[in-house]
Amino acid sequence: MNVQEVRQMFPILHQEVNGHPLVYLDSAATSQKPVQVIEAVEDYYRRYNSNVHRGVHTLGTHATDAYEGAREKIRKFINAHSTEEIIFTRGTTTALNLVATSYARANLGPEDEIVITPMEHHSNIIPWQQVAKHTGATLKYMPLQDDGSISLKDAEETITDKTKIVSVMQVSNVLGAVNPIKDITKIAHKNGAVMVVDGAQSAPHMKVDVKDLDCDFFAFSAHKMCGPTGIGALYGKKKHLEKMEPVEFGGEMIDFVGLQESTWKELPWKFEGGTPIIAGAIGMGAAIDFLTEIGLDNIDAHEEKLVKYAISRIDEVEGVKVYGPEKRAGIVTFNCDDVHPHDVATVLDAEGVAVRAGHHCAQPLMKWLNVTATARASFYLYNTEEEVDVFVKSLIKTKEYFGNVFG
Ligand code: PMP
Repeated sequence: MNVQEVRQMFPILHQEVNGHPLVYLDSAATSQKPVQVIEAVEDYYRRYNSNVHRGVHTLGTHATDAYEGAREKIRKFINAHSTEEIIFTRGTTTALNLVATSYARANLGPEDEIVITPMEHHSNIIPWQQVAKHTGATLKYMPLQDDGSISLKDAEETITDKTKIVSVMQVSNVLGAVNPIKDITKIAHKNGAVMVVDGAQSAPHMKVDVKDLDCDFFAFSAHKMCGPTGIGALYGKKKHLEKMEPVEFGGEMIDFVGLQESTWKELPWKFEGGTPIIAGAIGMGAAIDFLTEIGLDNIDAHEEKLVKYAISRIDEVEGVKVYGPEKRAGIVTFNCDDVHPHDVATVLDAEGVAVRAGHHCAQPLMKWLNVTATARASFYLYNTEEEVDVFVKSLIKTKEYFGNVFG
């Protein structure tokens, strides 16, 4: 399938914004949705909307099969051992909070350390700050190289036998850096720590194999991978999940309820209190079918080519600084001398080009970069080289608009 055929499947892309064809370069914030996903969600509501795991009626059985079928698709997508290891969550944030609240608070004490990096998203920082507050554990940061990458030597030095949890993003939502998760996991395990992976920016773009990574937990969101908002998953090794307490209590997650005491369902349902996000899960399953059909390797290769082209074209515009290592996923974060990134994004928007500006939920990384904000263009399977050209042309216009103050 070529990129034009892929684009045909995304209705939203075929519109004008501010009088120009939309160039959507904000997929790292949320991706667009193909008709297959939109229709799967609609089909559920039109034909078999019903609660799951409850009634014995036909619609309920259909909904339960579709919901649990989506769990199996996720299992296969990341190569987990069993669907018992796949917990539906609201997304990456909720998944990481589940690990922090249920696993970490129960297993950490004042002598223990948590190791993360300064490039993490706030969703992979604040839950650990909270764990540190509640348990007395220390939150430590692995240093970054000058280009924003992680060196294994630094990982070896920061992770010690005091470390109980290491939590690192697989792909940075700002720098595009692809972190050596498999090697960091080995270092974590050698020291007796569990490895948590924030996969929000990797699962949509590259093949993920949790068995091969050998991580203990892996969190990701459907909305960044062509799926609906409000749904995602936490993978956890069964040996951990079995010992963990639920964090939400109520309907659906119980086995027996007495007046004073109750017991929980087995995995994975003990973590899914209340009516689950049924339509979202079904939509996530459809997104996985869609991505699998295109092929994660093809998506990865397409983005690699696009990002190389984008960087070479941006290099032609004087006064634009690009952040992050050379080897990167489809993310280009940049600043234009003397023009605030919000102004850059506003002028680009007037040209129909959607990029993000701000701190990207990574304020510690902004501090590390010595900036308050940046602009970010992020690419996905539906973006083209022609769109990169429009983006760069608009960047040059931005420069002219602000009186050539940069460059
Ligand atoms: N981690 C990373 C690296 C992200 O890019 C994001 C989303 N911007 C998140 C975590 C949080 O994901 P969500 O908002 O879907 O929970």
